[in-house]
Amino acid sequence: MTWEERWHPLREEWIIVAAHRQNRPWSGETIEHAEELLPEYVSDCYLCPGNLRVSGRRNDDYTSTFVFDNDHPCVGMDAPPPQKVESSGIYLNRPAQGFARVVCYSPNHSVALAELEISEIENLLRVWQEQYRELGSRPEINHVLIFENKGEAVGVSNPHPHCQIYATNFVFKTIETEARVSQQHLAATGRIIFQDIIEAERADNRRVIFENERAIAFMPYFARYAYEVFVAPKERHRSLATLSDEELRDFAAVLKNTLVRFDNLWRMPFPYVMALHQAPTDGGDYSGFHFHVEFHPPLRRPTLLKYLAGPEIGGGNFLSDTSPEEKAAELRAAGDVHYKIGASNF
Ligand SMILES: [Zn+2]
Ligand SMILES: [Zn+2]
Repeated sequence: MTWEERWHPLREEWIIVAAHRQNRPWSGETIEHAEELLPEYVSDCYLCPGNLRVSGRRNDDYTSTFVFDNDHPCVGMDAPPPQKVESSGIYLNRPAQGFARVVCYSPNHSVALAELEISEIENLLRVWQEQYRELGSRPEINHVLIFENKGEAVGVSNPHPHCQIYATNFVFKTIETEARVSQQHLAATGRIIFQDIIEAERADNRRVIFENERAIAFMPYFARYAYEVFVAPKERHRSLATLSDEELRDFAAVLKNTLVRFDNLWRMPFPYVMALHQAPTDGGDYSGFHFHVEFHPPLRRPTLLKYLAGPEIGGGNFLSDTSPEEKAAELRAAGDVHYKIGASNF
C-alpha cells in the first residue's frame, strides 16, 4: 500500500498519498445512480435543436455541433462597470468582462462524449480550435478556458452533451501556475516540463492508459483524484489550435478510448470535470507550455464522492486515499469497447 508524499511538478505542491486508508469504514452520504434511458430529443431541453431558450432565442436546427453565447453569462463584454471602483488600499475591483459560450456536441440528447464516433470528436476538436483562435485573438481576452462538467455529481442537471467556454480578461490560476513553471523549467533545463512528464510515464508505463502514434493518456504519478487522467499530444503544442489533421485524429482516438474506459469501469456514465489546459492568449512567452486535457472525476467508488475538506479546502493540498498505480490498472483493464454499444470503434 502506498503511503507517501508525491510532488506535483506542474502545481508545485505536495500530494499526500495515503492509500492504506482507502478501505476505512464509511457511514456518510453515498451517491445513487439510477440510469435512465434518455430520448434523443426533449422538447423542453434548452440545448436540443430548434428549441427556444430562456433568453427568447431559438437554437439552430443543427446537425453536428452548435455554439451559442451563454444566456446567463458569468462574464460578458456588456458587464456593467462596478458600482464603485476600488483603486486604493488593499481592495480592487473591475468589470467582469469576457465571453461565456456553450458548445453542444451533438443534436442527440441521449449521447455522451464517450459515445460519439471518433470522427465526431475530431469535428468537435476543430470547433474548439476555432473558438480558441477567435476568442484568443481578441485583445481584451487573456485566456480561453474550455471545460465540461459532466454528471449530477458535479452539479449538472441537463445530460445533453455540451461543454462551456469562459474567455476572460485574466488567466485562470492553475494555467497561470503551469505556464510559470513551464517557462522556469525551460530556462533551467532547456526542456519542456510536460514532455519530461510524458517521458517518465512511458518509462514507468504502469499508469499509461492508452497511446497511439501521436497522442497519449495517462494517470499522472502525482494524481490528486482517484481516477485523474491527462490526455496530450506527444509533440509540443501551446494549444489545440496548431494540431495537424493526423494529430487531431490520434488525439480524438485517445480521448475516446479514455472516456470509454471511464464509463466501462463501473458500467455507468462516469462523472467528471474535463478542462483543456492551453497557453494564455495575453501575448506572453509560452514556448514551454504543452497543451493537454485534464480529467478530474469526483468519484472514488461507484457511490462514493471524494469530498474536498480540511486538507484541500482548509490547507490547499490534496490528500489522496488511493494509489495511482492501482487505479490506473483498473482503467487499463476496463476495456475500450463501450458497454452500451458492445461493438468496437477501434
Ligand atoms: Zn437536449
Ligand atoms: Zn494542466
